[in-house]
Amino acid sequence: MTETRNTVILGSGCAGLTAAIYTARAGLNPLVLEGHEPGGQLSITTLVENFPGWPEGIQGPDLIDNMKKQAARFGASFELAHLSRVELGAHPIKLHTSLGEIATRTLIVASGASARWLGLPSEQALIGHGVSSCATCDGCFFRAQDIAVVGGGDSAMEEALFLTRFASKVTLLHRREAFRASKIMLDRAMAHSNIELRTNTVVEEVLGVEEKEVTGVRIRDVKTGVVSILHIKGLFLGIGHEPNAKMFAGQMDLDEDGYIKTTGNVLTTFNGQPIPGVFACGDVQDRRYRQAITAAGSGCMAALEVEKFLEDHGH
Ligand code: NDP
Repeated sequence: MTETRNTVILGSGCAGLTAAIYTARAGLNPLVLEGHEPGGQLSITTLVENFPGWPEGIQGPDLIDNMKKQAARFGASFELAHLSRVELGAHPIKLHTSLGEIATRTLIVASGASARWLGLPSEQALIGHGVSSCATCDGCFFRAQDIAVVGGGDSAMEEALFLTRFASKVTLLHRREAFRASKIMLDRAMAHSNIELRTNTVVEEVLGVEEKEVTGVRIRDVKTGVVSILHIKGLFLGIGHEPNAKMFAGQMDLDEDGYIKTTGNVLTTFNGQPIPGVFACGDVQDRRYRQAITAAGSGCMAALEVEKFLEDHGH
C-alpha cells in the first residue's frame, strides 16, 4: 500500500467532478475513481439547456469534458479503477480496487444513479439497437416511426411527450392501472393525440434480437392474460433510476430504495452515527432534484466538508 491520500472521489459525473475541482484547488490532490459509467448521466445526454452560464446550451459530454479539464488543471488525477470493496470503519478508510488497496483520510461518494432496466435478456441484447433509457439522447433516431415507452411515473410521461417530436406514434405501456406520475404530466400525455396509454400491460420480450434491431414487443395484459405483439421500432425505458450504492450496504445507512442517507446541509453519511470523513453528493443521495446543477452544488458542499474535516483533524 502506498501513502495515505487526503481524499478520494468515487464517480466522475457532475457531482464528483465539481468535488474534484474544489478539493484540487484546495491543494488536496484528489484521486477520482471514474467508475463504470465515466462522466455519469450527462455523458449520455445531448443538449443541456438549463446549466447556468451556457445561454445557448452545451452538449452533456462537452460539459463533463470541461469539468474534467478544469479539475485536472488544479491537480486532480483520474483512474478507471474498479472498486470491489470499501472499509469505511477503518482509519484511514480503505478502498480495495483493481489497482490495489488505496488508503484515504476522506471519501466523497459521488457514484450517481443508473437507469433501471426491465432485465429481459432480449432487452439487454438490443440496447443501442432500438432499446434506450434516454429519450433525449436517442429520440431523434425514430423519426416517423412507431415506438413505445415503459413506465407510469413522470419520467415515462416526459419521455413519451418528448418523443412525440419525432415518432409518429408513442404507446405508453404501464404495468398497473394507477399512475405514479403527477396529474399535470399524466393529463398532458393523455391529451396528446399521438400518445396511446395502455395500462395493466407488461413487456414479456423485445423482438428483433436476430435482426439486431427492434421489430416489436410481446406484451401481456395482466388482467385478461391476453398476449399480443406490438409492432414498434424503438422501446424506451422510463422506469426510474437505481442509486449506485449497493457496495455500501451494511456500512452506511441507505433508504428503502437504496439511496445514501445524508444530512441535507452537510452531506455527512451515517452508519447509525456519522461516519467520520465520508460524504456523499449527487444523485446517489438525491432522489428529489436529480439535476446537473444540484449535483454540482452538492459536490461543492462535499468538497468544502472534506476541507473542513481535514483541517479539524490537523491535516
Ligand atoms: P418513479 O419511481 O416515479 O416511477 C417509475 C415507474 O416505472 C413507476 O410507474 C413504476 O411502476 C415503473 N416501473 C418500475 N420498475 C418497473 C419494472 N420493472 N417494470 C415495469 N414498470 C416498472 O420514477 P421516475 O423516474 O418517473 O420519477 C422519479 C422522480 O423524479 C419522481 O419524483 C418524479 O416526480 C421526478 N420527475 C419529475 C419530472 C418532472 O416534473 N418534469 C420528470 C421526471 C421525473 P409502479 O407505478 O407500478 O411502481
